[in-house]
Amino acid sequence: MNKRFSSRLIHLGDRTGESVSRSKSIPIAMTSVFSFDDVESLDQVYEGQAKGYIYTRNGNPVHDALTEIMCGIEEGEAALAYASGMGAISLSILAQVKTGDHIIAAHVLYGGSFQFIKSELSRFGVSVTFVDVVNEDISAYFQPNTRLVYVETISNPTMEVVNLETLAKVTHQHGAKLIVDNSFATPVICQPLSLGADVVVYSATKYIGGHSDVTAGIVVSDRETIARIYASGLLFGPTLSPFDGWLLVRSLRTLELRIQQHARNALALAEYFASHPTIRSVYYPGLPSSPTHPVARRIFNNNLFGGMLSIDLAGGEPQAYALLRHLESIKFVPSLAGVSTTTSYPAKTSHRALSDEELEKAHISKGLIRISVGLEDIDDIIGEFDATLAKIC
Ligand code: PLP
Repeated sequence: MNKRFSSRLIHLGDRTGESVSRSKSIPIAMTSVFSFDDVESLDQVYEGQAKGYIYTRNGNPVHDALTEIMCGIEEGEAALAYASGMGAISLSILAQVKTGDHIIAAHVLYGGSFQFIKSELSRFGVSVTFVDVVNEDISAYFQPNTRLVYVETISNPTMEVVNLETLAKVTHQHGAKLIVDNSFATPVICQPLSLGADVVVYSATKYIGGHSDVTAGIVVSDRETIARIYASGLLFGPTLSPFDGWLLVRSLRTLELRIQQHARNALALAEYFASHPTIRSVYYPGLPSSPTHPVARRIFNNNLFGGMLSIDLAGGEPQAYALLRHLESIKFVPSLAGVSTTTSYPAKTSHRALSDEELEKAHISKGLIRISVGLEDIDDIIGEFDATLAKIC
């Protein structure tokens, strides 16, 4: 039929389903919704009798490709992708608690997770006890209504490694579930599910994306738990854009190579800082002097300890500000895990919502700078810190 202008504008160029060959990289189904031939076929998809997609908030082929890779490398049964790490984290918790429940959380956490657990959950009548999960036995903190324990594999920003094996055992003895934020470690370095965790969450904005161009989150767990989180997620609605999902699939192909280089560079930089007179402390689990180095050696793969480290400057806040101001190619960036080396100042960025008392408890001093070590030549990274420290000291 000879269509009119407006109709041609709408229908021409539709190539879906016409080709016998396929694109080498996965196609992006950049669509919010899918069409059906009839009501019967829609019904079959809803009832799980036919494979298909309905609406991107319910699922999209790119989400499936992404979660298939994540399940494969985490050895989880099922996974979900969301529009941010906080989307994945808040849903993983909300979907598993109800009013009157209690959770235990690590006292050092990414500031957003800390705030969510402290302020948002309490509005729903869920209580929390923050515990130093690295140095204390958490057994004493369980209550009959404790449902979850929430920790980070490598704590942000003090880089302590949590003994996930022991924590999972104790958590299960008390009938609770262990959720682990594995954003800093990634599945290349640590697979929390194989150490006994029940749910693994990621800010995929970090190493999984790895290029500072995507905001996303991922959850991996068993089928039953994922079904529960999926049901909540459908209604809370933090849907990942198919394009961002596609970027994550592309980034995952190089995750192992990137992490190896991030970790090699971070170890060399940590060793440099450890012998520098201006640096009071270096927080990096790969240093034998780190209190959690033995745990890291046991639960991390291939002697890799990650690309994140923190330093505490003897000159406190003024020296920290001066270092951030004078570094040139190493930018002050309140995020992490991109290809270039960047710095952050937790007291004013990721952890700015914490009170002075909470900062002190979490060992976040005003002289603490967090460094995301990039993929540059390590001599250039060390050279820039060395020259800048010499200038400001
Ligand atoms: N978990 C950790 C360890 C983080 O560092 C962050 C953000 O910096 C988040 C979760 C939150 O992720 P997003 O910013 O993707 O929501």
